Amino acid sequence: MRVRLLPPAMAKIINHSLSNPKVEVAGLLIGVEDGGVVEIWDAVTGTQTGSSGFVVLSEEVMAKVAEFLHDNKIPLYIVGWYHSHPSLGLFLSPIDIRTQITYQALYPNAVALVIDPSRYTGSKRISDSLFKVFRIGANGEVIELPVTFGAGTRKLLESTLIGLTTTSLFQSEAYNMPTSKPFKIISNFLLYGLRTEGVKRDE
Ligand SMILES: [Zn+2]
Repeated sequence: MRVRLLPPAMAKIINHSLSNPKVEVAGLLIGVEDGGVVEIWDAVTGTQTGSSGFVVLSEEVMAKVAEFLHDNKIPLYIVGWYHSHPSLGLFLSPIDIRTQITYQALYPNAVALVIDPSRYTGSKRISDSLFKVFRIGANGEVIELPVTFGAGTRKLLESTLIGLTTTSLFQSEAYNMPTSKPFKIISNFLLYGLRTEGVKRDE
């Protein structure tokens, strides 16, 4: 199983983790599965409780997001979750493993993305060391999944449009983020032609 991360999802996850760089933040990954590849098109969040070493997404977030996707006729679904490990490194803790097992029970191919925002702050560059994506194997082992970054033009535009549609799902009382920020970051991605360093790209 492989993972393809599209820019709107990446931009929102980075932006969210930087909105509170000393506290763990979490959200859901939205996408589709396409021939053994889990494509993460978008990321959303909602009410949560977090500290420097812990985060829990409120249980109602998943239902709210599923309802939003359905009501807005967005042909994507929840393909996993993300959370930040501020300066902690990229791994799944025992609690993360339990959380991931519950996601995989709901959606067998669910993935867990972990991001360390401190690895973006200085460089403002996307690199392999910024995040990792995991799932739990049949014997309970943590498997790191290969990730590619980017997509062809059509998917890039479609995911950007959907990413703008779901921006309201970031207006949670859990933290304050100006509405314009994700728009700005996504448009920066497009303007700079998804120029990245150290990250594999494919069409
Ligand atoms: Zn964790």
